[in-house]
Amino acid sequence: MAEVKVSETKDLTRIERIGAHSHIRGLGLDDTFEARDVSQGMVGQRSARRAAGIILQMIKEGQIAGRGVLLAGQPGTGKTAIAMGMAKALGEETPFAMMAGSEIFSLEMSKTEALSQAFRKAIGVRIKEETEIIEGEVVEIQIERPATAGAASKTGKLTLKTTEMETVYDLGTKMIEALGKAKVQSGDVIAIDKASGKITKLGRSFARSRDYDAMGPQTKFVQCPDGELQKRKEVVHVVTLHEIDVINSRTQGFLALFAGDTGEIRSEVREQIDSKVAEWREEGKAEIVPGVLFIDEVHMLDIECFSYLNRALENEMAPILVVATNRGITRIRGTNYKSPHGIPIDLLDRLLIIATTPYTEEEIRKILDIRCEEEDVDMTDDAKDLLTKIGAETSLRYAMCLISAASLACQRRKGKEVEIEDISRVYTLFVDVKRSTQFLMEYQEQFMF
Ligand code: ATP
Repeated sequence: MAEVKVSETKDLTRIERIGAHSHIRGLGLDDTFEARDVSQGMVGQRSARRAAGIILQMIKEGQIAGRGVLLAGQPGTGKTAIAMGMAKALGEETPFAMMAGSEIFSLEMSKTEALSQAFRKAIGVRIKEETEIIEGEVVEIQIERPATAGAASKTGKLTLKTTEMETVYDLGTKMIEALGKAKVQSGDVIAIDKASGKITKLGRSFARSRDYDAMGPQTKFVQCPDGELQKRKEVVHVVTLHEIDVINSRTQGFLALFAGDTGEIRSEVREQIDSKVAEWREEGKAEIVPGVLFIDEVHMLDIECFSYLNRALENEMAPILVVATNRGITRIRGTNYKSPHGIPIDLLDRLLIIATTPYTEEEIRKILDIRCEEEDVDMTDDAKDLLTKIGAETSLRYAMCLISAASLACQRRKGKEVEIEDISRVYTLFVDVKRSTQFLMEYQEQFMF
């Protein structure tokens, strides 16, 4: 396997949202796409999960270009959970970008810029690089010390013997440190990855260390002009088009990636990057990895955004668009027309629709069990029964929120397990939407308008 470095930049603002789905590890399907009852953190919603699995297969076989998926169902029926499950099942290397429809109404950038950024966060570029591996038995390491200070100098020399000849390599500080850390001595047989500076000890004697397989199957040997045999290993990075945009946008610089404050990116920058990536693809140095763009609360987008989506889906690099909504027939924002899910018919026509249905009490119980385990909360069966009832009568999300609050209440009374009293306590402290609405109806004259 080639070494894979997956981009680790994730929007900090999303951590909270993703936290609620941290128990989801996939779609929980077997080889025939049947949904297992409880698997990979997923409970019930079997036909929606099965449908999502078939879509994943279409994605893998490249059969879904120009189309998307709509997850439609009541609040809290697992639409986001299924989208997360799809992302997990696609693997780490596949980019997954997530946004809520309402996020496009930001003051910092135009709506289409926000959508462009979201699309480009969901398109990965797999870049292949070759790195040189030097391997040999250490004959001598010479670290030159400055005349005055006692500290190690910044330069040195390493003499390595390959089967045919001895070669002297100049050392920089980084390499000296790496040799020190790996505790390399003369007589050791080592491999140095020139790009990363990583040193691997292969053994003590050259005769015993001819195990090239240790370097991985991607290693190949190339004949260098001086006749020496060198090893080259392929290293693969996956970065998103958005990351390349940000790094190359002169006003921002790569630090903006960590701050999440990227601002608008000029269209010339994007054009240059697209043509550079096209060049790399032609030279075989890069491949496009279409990812998944998930837009929650899609009914919050307006007609301009919908026409952008229609166009963007036509692009050959387009990611798979997965949208979700809990609305029925509603007005398309920016128009006076009503349409199913608040989505224009021409876009709806391109979407495969997956419906999610409300959970049974038994399923709610199983989800709550999984969340207690995920949050490391011990809870008695009675307390779980009560929480399940609350979940069925109010909402699954509300019941899930009570887990950590009840656990704090339990800690306060120095209890070991969350009991019925802790659940009742937090149930009276925090009202659910139904009770809050009732309260508002009763006392509305006393609120400000
Ligand atoms: P909304 O329409 O309000 O956005 P939603 O349909 O997207 O709701 P989720 O956010 O996916 O609902 O679900 C609420 C919570 O329940 C989340 O924490 C989610 O991870 C969890 N959950 C939902 N369905 C399942 C399931 N089938 N298995 C395990 N956990 C689930």
